[in-house]
Amino acid sequence: MPEDFSQLVRTEKRHIWHPFTPMDPWCDDAHEPLMLVSGKGCWLRDQHGRDYIDGNSSIWTNIHGHSHPTILAFIRSQLERVAHTSFLGFTHAPAAQLAHELVHLMPESGLNRVFYSDNGSTAIEAAVRMAFQYHRQTGDHLRNTILAFENGYHGDTLGAASLGGLGLFKGVANDFGYKVVRVSRAEQLEKLNASEIAAAIIEPLIQGAAGMRLWPPGLLKQLREWCSASGVLLIADEVMTGFGRTGKLFACQHEDVVPDFLCLAKGLTGGYLPLAVTMTTDCIFDAFRGDPSRAFYYGHSYTANQLGCAAALGNLQVFRDEQTMLHLASKVARFGELAATLSGVADARVCGMIAGIELSGPVGLGAKVCLAAREYGLLTRPIGNVIVLMPPLCVSLLELETMFAALQRAIDTALA
Ligand SMILES: *Cc1c(COP(=O)(O)O)cnc(C)c1O
Repeated sequence: MPEDFSQLVRTEKRHIWHPFTPMDPWCDDAHEPLMLVSGKGCWLRDQHGRDYIDGNSSIWTNIHGHSHPTILAFIRSQLERVAHTSFLGFTHAPAAQLAHELVHLMPESGLNRVFYSDNGSTAIEAAVRMAFQYHRQTGDHLRNTILAFENGYHGDTLGAASLGGLGLFKGVANDFGYKVVRVSRAEQLEKLNASEIAAAIIEPLIQGAAGMRLWPPGLLKQLREWCSASGVLLIADEVMTGFGRTGKLFACQHEDVVPDFLCLAKGLTGGYLPLAVTMTTDCIFDAFRGDPSRAFYYGHSYTANQLGCAAALGNLQVFRDEQTMLHLASKVARFGELAATLSGVADARVCGMIAGIELSGPVGLGAKVCLAAREYGLLTRPIGNVIVLMPPLCVSLLELETMFAALQRAIDTALA
């Protein structure tokens, strides 16, 4: 099938409504959107055959690069059998195997139960609903509030957006359906009425959508201790930080913290298919046993999609085959060095293989830099005037240099 890309662009402008996108400038005749047609490793190719480094891992999802033969083989082999079957009343081998492997990534954690869903937002909503129901079923009816952090981001569905502390992303989803209290520092915890709080939710180590804001070291541990002392359950939103991004497999491991719920999504399938998990302890799970009315009545049509589970098994296989975590340390060190040498920036915040590079300048400067970066072969998306760099973990030292050189040229161009 010959592809007439300019025709397809006209068609898409006529019919598609893009996420997080003001549609007037998008549909403007002068705007030529990139159509990404293929990818290999850290590189993406557009409709004109131009190649770009995938500087934000395709919105924080990709782990081992695009078109990885192992992940493709896992997906293909599953596809030959069956693509999807219902998880309501049935089960399947990829889900069983994946649950086993996930639990054994952190054998000491006690996070022994895996609840499947489709994306980060639903993984969070499942955790919140489990937390409320847990307290109700263990006789603690007063805990009707969730503790969240200012500037937090936990997804876009109404329930997940209610937790968020970022106005832009919340839209009209303002504390929909349940009570949320927000704090910004550990010191504020002591002033709270803990007896009405069901759970606390945090993005461990680093708040992503807030512009890559780093927590003070120790805050996560302090929160864990406060939660344990107060009977509050801890939800770790590792949707962004999971699977090596921060330099350890999970961000919680930096502070030896074990949450009561661990939410994983973006990188779970290596960035190939939508799939999420909410992991929890036997203690939480046990409160849902017994009388059928105690069950967790929640789920989606595509829960535990077989292809998604196969992709996630492929993702974990590559971690083992390529010893990804072993090779990561030298990349993380170089990534930090390169971020520190950028000129013309106000701040460069780094956590593992995640960087938030803050520019000082007028509104729109971040977008201008990202547009210029495209010309130099780098794709990423800004958060306001913060440029996000978060390459796939398979990035080579040479590709890291190429990526930072492209960003420096883009910053220089935009500031000139
Ligand atoms: C992306 C993200 C989510 C939401 O995940 P979706 O798959 O987009 O619904 C939740 N929490 C964090 C920290 C995220 O980065």
